[in-house]
Amino acid sequence: MSSKEKEPEGELQTAKGMRDILGEEWLAYQGFLEKAAELAIYYGFRPLETPILERASLFERGTGADTDIVSKEMYLTRTRGGDTLALRPEFTPSVMRAYLENGLQAEPQPVMLYSSGPLFRHDRPQRGRYRQFYQFNLDALGTAKAVTDALIIKLLLTTLGEAGLKNLRLEINSLGDKECRPIFRRELANYYRKHARELCEDCRERLKENPLRLLDCKNPKCQELKEAAPESVGYLCAACKSHFREVLEHLEMLEIPYEINHQLVRGLDYYTRTVFEIFDPTVTNEAGLPLALAGGGRYDYLARALGYKKEVPAVGGAIGLERMMLSPHYRRQPPRIIKKPKIFFIQLSFDAKLKAISVIEILRQARIPMAQSIAKDSLGTQLGLAEKLAVPHTIILGQKEALENTVIVRDMQNRSQEVVPLAKLADYLKVNIKHLTK
Ligand code: AMP
Repeated sequence: MSSKEKEPEGELQTAKGMRDILGEEWLAYQGFLEKAAELAIYYGFRPLETPILERASLFERGTGADTDIVSKEMYLTRTRGGDTLALRPEFTPSVMRAYLENGLQAEPQPVMLYSSGPLFRHDRPQRGRYRQFYQFNLDALGTAKAVTDALIIKLLLTTLGEAGLKNLRLEINSLGDKECRPIFRRELANYYRKHARELCEDCRERLKENPLRLLDCKNPKCQELKEAAPESVGYLCAACKSHFREVLEHLEMLEIPYEINHQLVRGLDYYTRTVFEIFDPTVTNEAGLPLALAGGGRYDYLARALGYKKEVPAVGGAIGLERMMLSPHYRRQPPRIIKKPKIFFIQLSFDAKLKAISVIEILRQARIPMAQSIAKDSLGTQLGLAEKLAVPHTIILGQKEALENTVIVRDMQNRSQEVVPLAKLADYLKVNIKHLTK
């Protein structure tokens, strides 16, 4: 973090770009992740949970030391033992590390893994951009086959579709491999060198470090040059050309419309061949520019970059949850643990409060979803809450009932009620009140 920048004052505020995700909103995250995991399992993926803290060198070598994510945006911390760890800014290097470290090369390939959780980038916060954000991430490691590129794209689109998203636009490109990419890179650098004076300051730097990244520039000054820049697909070697053609063929078979975006490079070092991004035209940043909801690509040389002795061809992609939730089409889904309450539990008097927790536990063991307001004393307030929740039944525990070990079960519609011994409550509810546990 730059020393000039000040965090918001006071311990009672989150740090800049960080936020609490509360109640219904967190349930929506959980609901989405549960559904996404379910779909991934249908497609043959297995879960992977990696640590939030990793060695900083994993991202320096994997993501690339001169990428913005690593050089400008990574949160670093020094351990007491003197190691430098990073709050993960992305999943891919961690997934590859986990694959290699756990010997997954020895298993039938590809190994398909899904992961999710928070990522951290110290970027300027704005609409759709946080310093802590969440991704759902898919990877298929151990194969170069084009079918896996298509499978990742298809599953990301399906997952977004199941969350209600519509009219998604898939942009795709191929960056080539170690045979043809250097030729394209050189041509691109030659082209831009000729126009160096017209470039923004950042791009002049990019030209020295990695000319591919010039195509990532969003500065209006550089757009015209970008439009006329050499295109990577024009330089693909025969193997890369046929790989790209196969990926597109798969997409066509799946009836997935795509646009080839020649400027799509996704500025990380490890991308080879396929790169893609998914947009919802209604999701834009503060400047009105489209924001990618999901993105990914192939990273066949990452394993080597991390020091492994062999290449491990792999492809992956991720959905940004916050961006997805910005879409007007996004539909919240509660996780399975959330059930609509069927009963409201009302307790009156101190004697009733003494028994109240046991009543909650009786219903919990009987798997009957219920709501209560255990700290409240007045009947009126509690009945009011019950009506607001539109529960069909209430259980009332007054002083008399507490002493007699009974409760009153009241039908909120016809207002009939019955006294039931506590010991028989669960059975009574199951027999007399239909659809209780659904
Ligand atoms: P990336 O890892 O940069 O390829 O991003 C993949 C997806 O993560 C993007 O398409 C976004 O949906 C999401 N994403 C990336 N950076 C942020 C951020 N700072 N805040 C919120 N979402 C982000």
